[in-house]
Amino acid sequence: MLKIAIIGAGLNGLALAISLRQLGFAPEEIAIYERGETARAEGAGIIFWAEAVSLLKRIGVDLTDVGVTLPKLKTTFLSDSGEPKNFDIEKPPGQEAYGFLRENIYKKLLEKVHACGLIIQTDFDCENVVQADGQCTVYFKNKPPLLADVVIGCDGINSAVRRVIFPGFESIPLHIRAYRGTYQGTAEEVARFELPNDACQVYAGRDFRIFLYPNAVDSDAGLLSYYWFAAHRIDPTELHHEGDSSEMTAEKIQALLLRMPHCPEQVARWIAQTPHEKIIPSSTLRQLPFGDCSVNRVALLGDAVHAMAPTAGLGFLLGVINSLHLAASLRLRSDNIPTALEAYCSNIALHSRRCLEYTAELNDLFYTQNPMVTAMNAAKTYGELFQLTTRAAGQSLMVYNEAISARDIAATCLQKNIRGYLVRKGGQEENPLESETVTTRCKV
Ligand SMILES: Cc1cc2nc3c(=O)[nH]c(=O)nc-3n(C[C@H](O)[C@H](O)[C@H](O)COP(=O)(O)OP(=O)(O)OC[C@H]3O[C@@H](n4cnc5c(N)ncnc54)[C@H](O)[C@@H]3O)c2cc1C
Repeated sequence: MLKIAIIGAGLNGLALAISLRQLGFAPEEIAIYERGETARAEGAGIIFWAEAVSLLKRIGVDLTDVGVTLPKLKTTFLSDSGEPKNFDIEKPPGQEAYGFLRENIYKKLLEKVHACGLIIQTDFDCENVVQADGQCTVYFKNKPPLLADVVIGCDGINSAVRRVIFPGFESIPLHIRAYRGTYQGTAEEVARFELPNDACQVYAGRDFRIFLYPNAVDSDAGLLSYYWFAAHRIDPTELHHEGDSSEMTAEKIQALLLRMPHCPEQVARWIAQTPHEKIIPSSTLRQLPFGDCSVNRVALLGDAVHAMAPTAGLGFLLGVINSLHLAASLRLRSDNIPTALEAYCSNIALHSRRCLEYTAELNDLFYTQNPMVTAMNAAKTYGELFQLTTRAAGQSLMVYNEAISARDIAATCLQKNIRGYLVRKGGQEENPLESETVTTRCKV
């Protein structure tokens, strides 16, 4: 029996835990440790590409009923004089993106985690992991240390696990400041803002970008929830004067709107009317340089290894693609953890590096280039990125399906051996060791 310690119960930690259970690991083999007092989702909205939704469906988490389908991506590039240039993409049925309230996704994942018989140990703040003699000792703040065969750091952009295995591998601040808001209103109120209810609408001007989309519908109460994300480039000197960015004020909203010249009037009104408590100012966005993701029995997943700016809406898609690879590697090579983790890292290296590169390219286009230059180049970058992620999602599904078959073969083999043992037992040929050795003999 393995002991797999997952550090961090964010979206990726939960997706990994569920995938491991689906691949036949027992609840006793999977421990989830979360620093917070409760497991909860932070932030307002999130957009998922179709592949993220279908990979989650494959592990038994159906999000389609809690999201808003967004078949259209409508982008308006605003020239320096405010002239608009429109660029629309329409995705065919089955390939649409989805807008979600983060808490709705999190709730669904938590339900599945509990249905799988797993529990999340909260108030476990991981501080160190020491590897010796084929085992890991995980140290937590104010808690006794625990042993594990494998440790997976899913502890986000400031990962403590990453600091231990790759000291000095730190996130880099991008010169981009972001704000996220949620506006909830009746259909009539929302209609006043003339925003589409089936599209992610993007406005890209000189050094700024806004995107907005509906992310929840409460038909009973007749309420729609819309999410907006507004980000603009900042001067490097501003980086050192960020101060406390956690509270929103009318002055900050005015300053934000001044940074976004030619922002359509109805969008500016909408941002200005969003209640302050429904706006989350982020300090400067950050990203990680591309790096390795495992050392011996410890590996990283999600933002802990590939945090990036949300310019392409890729963060979670890449996390879920990689969590399927990781779970499958552990299933297929459970008798040699370091090899399993090496295989995981080499399987995800190429697409993860490319995703980070494409996102950096889009950051450069949207936050430093003339919007008309961005308009000419963004479509090509997005097109290549769509192809890359579709291929990467397909590959992770293939590896995961292979691990499911291995699980099924092992289970059939186990059943046959137990049956054989019982028959022999009935026929006086008793061998009490038989059923204990069976899992070893059936190992795949
Ligand atoms: C402004 C913004 C907008 C975004 N929009 C999108 C989007 O539209 N689409 C998309 O796909 N992605 C988006 N992303 C990216 C996406 O949010 C992340 O990729 C994703 O949430 C990462 O999940 P995670 O589980 O890896 O990390 P996290 O969500 O950061 O979870 C880490 C968990 O680990 C816990 N933890 C941390 N340290 C410790 C410790 N020492 N011990 C124990 N537990 C610990 C934390 O409490 C947390 O629960 C956005 C990101 C930002 C910043």
